[in-house]
Amino acid sequence: MIIKMDLSEILLYLNLMKKTKRRPVLDELKMMLYYLDNYEQVKEFYNKLQENKFNPPYKFLTFSLVHFIENYEDCDELKNRIFQNTRRKYSELFMQLIRLSTSKEQAKKIIEEAKEYKSLDENWANYYDSMWQIKKNQEAWRENIRQLGKYNRFSEIYEDFYKMKLNYFGNLSLKQLKETLLENQTNNNNRKVTQTTVYNRSVYIKEFARRVSNGICQLCEKKAPFVDKEGNPFLEVHHIDYLSRGGSDTVENVVAVCPNCHRKLHMLELEEDVKKISVRALENMLD
Ligand SMILES: [Zn+2]
Ligand SMILES: [Zn+2]
Repeated sequence: MIIKMDLSEILLYLNLMKKTKRRPVLDELKMMLYYLDNYEQVKEFYNKLQENKFNPPYKFLTFSLVHFIENYEDCDELKNRIFQNTRRKYSELFMQLIRLSTSKEQAKKIIEEAKEYKSLDENWANYYDSMWQIKKNQEAWRENIRQLGKYNRFSEIYEDFYKMKLNYFGNLSLKQLKETLLENQTNNNNRKVTQTTVYNRSVYIKEFARRVSNGICQLCEKKAPFVDKEGNPFLEVHHIDYLSRGGSDTVENVVAVCPNCHRKLHMLELEEDVKKISVRALENMLD
């Protein structure tokens, strides 16, 4: 099974785990982190862990998550949180703080603080001159995960996640799905759309578009070219007004199309096609 996970799905999995009173285990956390793209997403992920009161093991926070933090304040907060709860003083936290510090003075202060903890190795302090790039760090971390063989377990874990998702959506009628989405959209008109809401919604939108299409491409109106392993017709979700051009991730902006039509839409951008799918998207909203 090809692993295709984005933040929206990851947040859904975390919510489903919460519902079934199951905590993510260390390998699952690592896998989720592995598939995040940038620090903004890491933050959302971290917020969700806190919101669901999952309290990841310190081992995870210090040896994994800390490498992805790109902001001094966030790193400092994480450090304080960990230090409040454990007597172990992890040098990883200090190292990352030094890398993220914006001035020599700031870096020196951290070194002074770190020196109070005798358990720390002397030579880590040298890192502060190099100011390593976070991206390099992330890659090293990922490589490490691969080396450790953790990566081999990912497909197994993913299959579990995937079943969880199928089960969840399988128990949700199209009507319920639509209601969830519309409720979400109306709420957003009244208050600022937070990134979290957007990420949370995305996986529902995709599911909605696929479901409402009934296995028929919404452009050429032919049956999906094949069904996936679970027997679901394979269609791709297309945003009429591209997300990359500021289009919204909303019900009225998505259709499900076959891979051929999807290519055609992006390559030719024919006006008649856009018109057709726009009408289809509006019809999707009706019953
Ligand atoms: Zn088609
Ligand atoms: Zn598309």
